[in-house]
Amino acid sequence: MDAGNPPTEPTSQPNAETLEPTSSGTAGGERLADTFARLDQAVSAAPEDFGRSVRYENRLVQARLGIAASLFTALRAKHPPSAAHSLRVAMGVSCWAIAKQLDEDALDKLEVAALLHDVGKIGVPDRVLLKPGKLSSDERLTIEQHRQVGVQILLSCCASQEILDIVKYTPAWYDGEKSGFDRSGSQLPLGARMVAIVDAYDAMTTDHVYRRAMSKERALSELYAYAGRQFDPDLVDEFSELMTRERINLHRLLAQRWLSELQSSQSERFWSLGFAGDSGATDDDANRLFYQSILDNIHDGVVFVDREMQIQLWNRPAERLTGLVAGAVVRRQWSPQLVQMRDESNSLIAAEDCPVRRALETGEQSLRRLVLQGCRGEPVSVDVHFIPVIGNEGQYHGVTIVLHDTSHQVSLEQRLEALQHQATRDPLTQVSNRAEFDRMLAQFVQNHLRRRLPCSLIICDLDHFKKINDTYGHQAGDEALISFAAMLRRFARTGDFVARYGGEEFVVLCADCTCDAAARRAEELRADLERTPQPALRGDPLTASFGVTQLQAGDTPETMLRRADRALLQAKESGRNMVVQLGAGEIEAEASKQTILQRWKQWFQPNHSEELIHCKLATCVPMVVAAQKLKGFIADHHAEILLFEDNRVVLQVQGGVSPSLRRQGDRGVALHIGLRFSESQPHENAPRRTDVEVLVRSRRARDRRKRNVRERARQLVASLKSYLMATEAG
Ligand code: GH3
Ligand code: MG
Ligand code: MG
Repeated sequence: MDAGNPPTEPTSQPNAETLEPTSSGTAGGERLADTFARLDQAVSAAPEDFGRSVRYENRLVQARLGIAASLFTALRAKHPPSAAHSLRVAMGVSCWAIAKQLDEDALDKLEVAALLHDVGKIGVPDRVLLKPGKLSSDERLTIEQHRQVGVQILLSCCASQEILDIVKYTPAWYDGEKSGFDRSGSQLPLGARMVAIVDAYDAMTTDHVYRRAMSKERALSELYAYAGRQFDPDLVDEFSELMTRERINLHRLLAQRWLSELQSSQSERFWSLGFAGDSGATDDDANRLFYQSILDNIHDGVVFVDREMQIQLWNRPAERLTGLVAGAVVRRQWSPQLVQMRDESNSLIAAEDCPVRRALETGEQSLRRLVLQGCRGEPVSVDVHFIPVIGNEGQYHGVTIVLHDTSHQVSLEQRLEALQHQATRDPLTQVSNRAEFDRMLAQFVQNHLRRRLPCSLIICDLDHFKKINDTYGHQAGDEALISFAAMLRRFARTGDFVARYGGEEFVVLCADCTCDAAARRAEELRADLERTPQPALRGDPLTASFGVTQLQAGDTPETMLRRADRALLQAKESGRNMVVQLGAGEIEAEASKQTILQRWKQWFQPNHSEELIHCKLATCVPMVVAAQKLKGFIADHHAEILLFEDNRVVLQVQGGVSPSLRRQGDRGVALHIGLRFSESQPHENAPRRTDVEVLVRSRRARDRRKRNVRERARQLVASLKSYLMATEAG
């Protein structure tokens, strides 16, 4: 291709080898659909969806190629965009030949050659064919060689030298500049010169991952740019004129020709064994010979099973893959058991679920990742493509099975998985490790806060584990750790996460779970553990202590973890083998105490707007006695101590001071009484006395204006005075 004037910019090169086969990224389906959409107007039985399009394509190809349609099927199994491209080229070139009024025989040969001009791609390795980027020079050479492979495949089965010549000379340049060809100019077969133009045109007007499709006008001007060098200039003129003419009629003619006028004998006559049935050769023999040519070149295993589920073809890669030689399996009944075909869950595929049977029943293709038994009895992962082979009358001939070995890919996936496993698992207990826990905790906190769902954390630590090691040995200790981790795994629900935090300390993240529920579950676990004899510890049980907490608004992973740790510490300090919960409620109470304390400090600042009463009382008893008397007040008024800190007390009193004062509407009103004590001694031998600063306010600001609230506050202070035996100080 670069024998002439190699273009500096690939898109300016209209040569089919440069433009079309470099990679897989053609939007073949769409372009194919376009072609079908055009045919849709011409043919009444037009396909409406892609599945039907493929069947329609099958009909066209079967009609045109007859038994050699199997070659086309193999190409489509290998690389669908190449098959779609070939079909478009064949239809394009056929339309042109009809317009040119070529004779029937030339037209037949041209169509067959165009359909099969890329069949050599069967021999191009996937890594080159499917490469999305630019190809290296070696890879280009491989692609280049596919033409020769195609010729070789056809040589073994095609009886027409003219077809072979068209395929052979399609890549040649008109000016003879391209090396490797012994003809140029008008010595090149007319068909080859025509296919070269349509091939390049289709390549240029099709989307590729490495290059967008050009407009038709641009593609035509590219053809002109290379007219006389790569292409026959007269034919470029002719093609260009054809492209600007009405094409629908040509397509109608073409569809009519392929679907209704072609005789099967016409399609079969090019193939060396003939398929008409009168040569004495059977379908099976013919099939076998055609496929044999592929066997030497293809990389994937190909098996053909006829409609009776009898194996007719088993190529060499299939032999290599399965260890079953063709001689042993051909003409035997196909069953998944033959190759020990297993599904994703490693279950043997039953005969009634066999995808081959399905393909025969439904006419639908399927592609599945399955596992076969390899040649050494080892499991081999394969992508298996089941392609029904459907005749031009819609009758099923059988199923082509393409086996693509993915074990390299899988072993890489497995290695990555193993590495991931190593990085995230604790090797002794097989639960997640601390690094993984840290990552998961951050995610849990973020997700649950965002979704406003509860989530809880349990930390558990085995009790007196050092002693267990000392008593039963370190090995037994290890086994006890494994046993406990297994118990935690069983305990975990879907969405929960278990990890070894370190040593004999484990964590469980409980998704969508409140603190109370998590604490109940931890308690069940604790009780279960305590009852479970540990074989490694001569049947003695283990115990553990548990700290449980729930995620709260404003939490970070650290604050949640610290709180759970504090709960665990409390469980240890309170005697071990227990569950301590530092739940939302307690934390809220703690937080509100802090708030009260803050506010309490403010209450003592003068003129606080929310106060109901602010006064000073004086008693002539020491502070300890005053405190005793305060106890009586608290008990009798059912007061709740909200704060007891140094010399400050905050009490909450519900309702009125006596039952008679309670009224329905006032029931909910609560008062806070703040007391600040200070002891003094006027002189050395004088008795100690206590001053009490008193502040009363309603718990809720809006209650301040309720009737009798001030009155009740006064009565409470009066009551307090009498309990403390105090007088109001100035
Ligand atoms: P406590 O009830 O207060 O938790 O007492 P304890 O003895 O369990 O706690 P301490 O933290 O003092 O000791 C933990 C012990 O756990 C010490 C260490 O030898 C043991 N340990 C940590 N990791 C492993 C391990 O992987 N295998 C074994 N067998 N023991 C371990
Ligand atoms: Mg411990
Ligand atoms: Mg510990």
